[in-house]
Amino acid sequence: MQTDERLGKLKEDINVLIPYAVPPEELEAAYKLLKVFSGDFFALGIIKDYYQTLPNANEEALIKIAVLEEREQVFLMLLSTTGHHYFYVTNDDESLFLSEWEKGLDDKQLLKFFGYADSKSFAKVHSDLEKCREYLPLERMDENLCPSCGVKTGGMHTLGCPVEVCPWCGGQLNHCNCRFEQLDVEAFTDDTMLDAFAEKLEQKGRVSYAKEQRPTFMAEEEASK
Ligand SMILES: [Zn+2]
Ligand SMILES: [Zn+2]
Repeated sequence: MQTDERLGKLKEDINVLIPYAVPPEELEAAYKLLKVFSGDFFALGIIKDYYQTLPNANEEALIKIAVLEEREQVFLMLLSTTGHHYFYVTNDDESLFLSEWEKGLDDKQLLKFFGYADSKSFAKVHSDLEKCREYLPLERMDENLCPSCGVKTGGMHTLGCPVEVCPWCGGQLNHCNCRFEQLDVEAFTDDTMLDAFAEKLEQKGRVSYAKEQRPTFMAEEEASK
């Protein structure tokens, strides 16, 4: 399916769902978000899945989408409505509701996948709703922006961004073993280690964002447009 056709179909589906999923007084807010993301099939896919499967059957407008984690094209998102915040995991095919923000995240497999030992260490990193990074329209389609942390070409990734390239091995900095090798430890057990590593990294010279670092499926997506 062509991109335009795919976008049109998604929007059509969502427009059918919204009146059933949202009370009249929240319709305006619901359509506002839809308009913001009207050209972004990644966001539209998430919006559709939300309205199709309303978590806990709460009938509320979706008003904000944030990205918490990303690894290998799997995204951990925070979807905010007028009254709730929900964790969702998503790839390009579907989005799944996990739990409410207040309850935290306790899916062990998923936590491990994103590099967390347990729900506590996850909650420590993601403790502030205000600090959750908002997903920007078209950011996954704009090659001048890092698809994960949103930095511009030539800029420095947020430390921990999965797109950042390791200056030692050329691999994915938040998943290679260089941080352990550089500090000569088996694992990071406290924040001082992370600070020490950040310092070593600065000395070595960090790799800034370039479009070549984009995951390959996006290049294919762009080529097929
Ligand atoms: Zn980044
Ligand atoms: Zn490395």
